[in-house]
Amino acid sequence: MRIILIFILMLHRIATSSPLTRRRALGLALGAVALTSRPSLAQTAPLEVVATTGMIADAARVVGGDHVQVRALMGPGIDPHSYRQTRSDIAALARADLVLWHGLYLEAQMEEFLLKLAARSPVVAVGEAVPESARIAHEDYEGRYDPHVWMVPELWGAVVDRITEALSAARPESAQLFVANAARYKDDLARLNIYAKDVLASVPEPARVLVTAHDAFGYFGRAYGYRVEGIQGLSTESEAGLARIRDLVDLLVSRQIKAVFVESTVSDRNIRALIEGAAAQGHEVIVGGELFSDAMGTPGTYEGSYLGMIDHNVTTIAAALGGTAPSRGMDGNLSAGG
Ligand code: ZN
Repeated sequence: MRIILIFILMLHRIATSSPLTRRRALGLALGAVALTSRPSLAQTAPLEVVATTGMIADAARVVGGDHVQVRALMGPGIDPHSYRQTRSDIAALARADLVLWHGLYLEAQMEEFLLKLAARSPVVAVGEAVPESARIAHEDYEGRYDPHVWMVPELWGAVVDRITEALSAARPESAQLFVANAARYKDDLARLNIYAKDVLASVPEPARVLVTAHDAFGYFGRAYGYRVEGIQGLSTESEAGLARIRDLVDLLVSRQIKAVFVESTVSDRNIRALIEGAAAQGHEVIVGGELFSDAMGTPGTYEGSYLGMIDHNVTTIAAALGGTAPSRGMDGNLSAGG
């Protein structure tokens, strides 16, 4: 209605003005009409995507480029096992053109809500792209799997493919671009995987033991030949018993393990208990660094990207356990002293 009024006003101005102003005003008026009647305007707006974890959001941004606008619900330091959707999350999820979540029971507190939402809008559990044959079974629950598949770039590639499919289904006219972006990104993932293999293999074999706060590194251990021990289980919601702490102290002492690792999304309380326990037996263990287990680093930094997260982890682990790794990581992008 307002546009029509402006148009009429402009026509009036045109009729009563000098020829030069008249031509310019006519152009403006026609431009205004063209703008409001262009049918493709809504289609060229970026696809609104909501992702649960930062790792999924990062992949969606890389693949989608400026054809997508991605919001991650969980920032740095947020534990996905215990995260529950906020009111503003619910609004964003309901409004989104596409929702990408991990699945495999990672977002345990959100699962019920997301499954309900899936009944009425596009909601894709991208972690389930990893084939069952490549998944690690959950020790305690039949038919459940270890969700931490992002720890290995090769497995994450399958998830990137699923994200690419989901974006392409939601915006078919951009599918070619998405596929091209994904192919480039998977080259980066392959290079990161080679780097990880190289630096992790530089650690002497008996020292390839990774002790962390919870069992986030099962896929990592399988891929790179490390014995992996989390104090807590696959979920941070499980409690670590005293017996578990005692067993791990014995392992550290008997294998003369030099370092254990804290995680960005889990309290370091149990890790401190291990260090004290080993010290009581005369064996010094240090904190080898903080690993990004279930969330990436600060947004806008290299560590706040998936590539930086994994680069940081493998570089930190290799250096702390007696291997050789460039201090600034694969391409010299890691922050100093990280
Ligand atoms: Zn976890």
